[in-house]
Amino acid sequence: MPNKKKILIIEDEEAIADLEKDYLELSDFDVTIKADGESGLEEALGHDYDLIILDLMLPGLDGFEVCKRIREKKNIPILMVSARKDDIDKIRGLGIGADDYMTKPFSPSELVARVKAHLARYDRLVGSGQPNNDVIEIRGLKIDKTARRVFVDGVEKQFTTKEFDLLTFLAEHPNHVYSKDELFREIWNMDSIGDIATVTVHIKKIREKIEYDTSKPQYIETIWGVGYRFKV
Ligand code: CA
Repeated sequence: MPNKKKILIIEDEEAIADLEKDYLELSDFDVTIKADGESGLEEALGHDYDLIILDLMLPGLDGFEVCKRIREKKNIPILMVSARKDDIDKIRGLGIGADDYMTKPFSPSELVARVKAHLARYDRLVGSGQPNNDVIEIRGLKIDKTARRVFVDGVEKQFTTKEFDLLTFLAEHPNHVYSKDELFREIWNMDSIGDIATVTVHIKKIREKIEYDTSKPQYIETIWGVGYRFKV
């Protein structure tokens, strides 16, 4: 029997949080509730959750800030909920890294369905630590890790070793922002000649191969002043 998936609900309206919890527990999830932004953020960063349901309007730190700060450290799915439709548009516009958005009131069974869908998608992407995860497929991009081959819309693209390693590393950690320093340390060993500018050059070359429009990258996104993130 596999371990139960752990869900964190950050929601200040007790009745809504309890309703969400009841339905998720009926579907065999392990659920924790935090009622404000600070304690929710602390809980999310300090423990291993599989998915977070995050309310937008919270006392203290609001949902925007909590989402942004979780996203700096974790790539687990974040489902944001809000009472206002225009907030949802704002969340999308800000690109803070939420995976999904729901407007209150929503049916608890729809919430459960979306939670399951996101967990399944995330498992497919990161493989849940299972070994048979040799092919990563995101939209038109396919990375065959065993054969070290990359296809864009079915057409094979030639990658150098480091370009392949860098793309694969980013794709295996979707939605996580990495600094150039972190990427350089991860992909090039400490003794190699080069510096973080090497990372910039490689990202540029990768984008030329996988993006339809390199000025509007749909896979590798530049987070100004921070680094890069692989979007899913
Ligand atoms: Ca609220």
